[in-house]
Amino acid sequence: MSDHDNQDRGELFGRVGPNMPTRNIMKDDFGFEIPVEVVPLPSGGVAYPVESPLHGLKTVEIKAMTAKDEDILTSRALIKKGTVITHLLKSCLINKNIEPDEMLSGDRNAVMTALRVTGYGEGYKVEVDCPDCGERSKQEFDLTDMPLKSLTISPVSEGANVFEFTLPTTKLPVRFKFLTGKDEQEMSTIAERKKKKGFADTTVTSRLSNCLISVNGINDRSKIDNFVKNMPARDSLALRKYLDDNEPGIEMKSWLDCPHCSESSEVRLPLGASFFWPDAE
Ligand SMILES: [Zn+2]
Repeated sequence: MSDHDNQDRGELFGRVGPNMPTRNIMKDDFGFEIPVEVVPLPSGGVAYPVESPLHGLKTVEIKAMTAKDEDILTSRALIKKGTVITHLLKSCLINKNIEPDEMLSGDRNAVMTALRVTGYGEGYKVEVDCPDCGERSKQEFDLTDMPLKSLTISPVSEGANVFEFTLPTTKLPVRFKFLTGKDEQEMSTIAERKKKKGFADTTVTSRLSNCLISVNGINDRSKIDNFVKNMPARDSLALRKYLDDNEPGIEMKSWLDCPHCSESSEVRLPLGASFFWPDAE
């Protein structure tokens, strides 16, 4: 492990650990205490409507995963519906008024990662490809090391998941949002349907379309979809980069010391089965 930029890493689990009094608020009939932990939200609650329980929320409380939650993780019905994570989040969030589907993807990922640590520890074994030599190796990463990326741009108005950007080539102003759990769910359902029908993969453009709210003041859905398909590649790239750079969340990346070529490089960690099923190979 090298001494890379630790200073610009957010502290996802900064409040967990020796200095953080884990509150044990739950007791069952056997006197078991289920620990409660505080998880920072990367969005800082900034992009949730004023009436939402998530509005202005910097942290959420979760209870550690229990055997009941493992049932959720292995439920075939929920896996088929693609709602496992939503159910798991609902079960573990202390504030039952929070709708996990309304949470931004990045906030969901941060909570999900914290939950994983409560359930199976911080070690995450996964196969990664070395960017230098291309060889694959199995590595263990520490999930509490993943940098947290906070939201730093401001929405157009208080509590709106609406942000502005001007495209560099066409100079057109666009408004966009960050995707929520519900958006992701709908997108994957549509993508699945398209795949079954044998249509080409349009993940990049449909993702962009789903983020866009208006282009030059026009918010007609079909016009936006059309614009996304025909916009200059340079604008498309700039917009995607802006979205990537600014989307709050947890960055699933770490340093790999490659056993094949001994190069050290930064790699993106795939979210494999062993994220929630550590024994799965
Ligand atoms: Zn290598």
